[in-house]
Amino acid sequence: MFNDSHNPNRPLQFWFQESHEGVILFIVFYTQACRYGRCVGCNLYQQQSPHPIDRLCLIRQIDQVFHDEDILARSQEVNKIILSNNGSILDEQTFSSTALTYFMFLVGQHFPFTRVLSLETRPEYVSLREMEFLSHIRQETILENIEIAIGVEAFSDHIRNVRFNKNLSIEAIEHLIERVSAYHFGVKCYFMFKPVSHMTTIEAINDIQSAIDFLDGCAQKYNVDINLHLNPTYVARGTCLASEFLQGLYEPPYLIDIVQAVKLGKGKRLNIFVGLNDEGLAVEGGSFLRAGDEGLVKTLEEFNKTQNYALLQKL
Ligand code: SF4
Repeated sequence: MFNDSHNPNRPLQFWFQESHEGVILFIVFYTQACRYGRCVGCNLYQQQSPHPIDRLCLIRQIDQVFHDEDILARSQEVNKIILSNNGSILDEQTFSSTALTYFMFLVGQHFPFTRVLSLETRPEYVSLREMEFLSHIRQETILENIEIAIGVEAFSDHIRNVRFNKNLSIEAIEHLIERVSAYHFGVKCYFMFKPVSHMTTIEAINDIQSAIDFLDGCAQKYNVDINLHLNPTYVARGTCLASEFLQGLYEPPYLIDIVQAVKLGKGKRLNIFVGLNDEGLAVEGGSFLRAGDEGLVKTLEEFNKTQNYALLQKL
């Protein structure tokens, strides 16, 4: 159920991405699993510890990041770092604020060109006290901005709260955006394309269109930089979706349909990043990546780096 065998002195994993913000280092720390833990279909907690991981172990994990050869080799290129623990980095009980402070102070020493720190969290941990704290520390580091990253998954209330049990209202998301605007923080919202069975491609595109319109409205109303991170759904092993897929009740999305959804962001006040990695976790035939998709993947990677909609019009 949980991952109790990982060395608590080492982070869980890291990888690099490239976006219009430059090179991004994505780090997942090994901590106590998400304390919400009730989202249907979520298996992230299976990678994390059932027990609290103390701050000394977290500091050793951070030291590991700053001494890892693969990371050091690209340290001069990194423009943005995303911190995750497959749950909520701002949940003090799973990730100590001492460790977060330690990380923020050391960023400048090891990654001299990093300007943005993105923190994955559920919105309920983004308190005024927490934002005051982050804003204060940021001023003493090389970081120019903080981004609060939340998993929304679907714009449809029914899919998000009834089928996924996210317990997250659209009003709460807008309230979060309004709160962070006072500190000039950015916001990143993770969505999934066609996340459930019995959803047509048209419904999937419409859901993303609603998300784009909502986030565009919030970005304008509160003057906040917003990134929509769109992950095409893949059928992960061991999930309910995998059983439905095996019964023929679900077909993974096609990349060209995702392109149709992304095009709707043209002229809106937000950036869109398309996740193109199924992490090798898809069951056979359950990935959105299919033979012959190489050209589309390349174009979407280029779009992620440039936000150039002309690339998509050609498809
Ligand atoms: S909040 Fe995130 S990590 Fe926690 S159960 Fe839900 S999807 Fe999983």
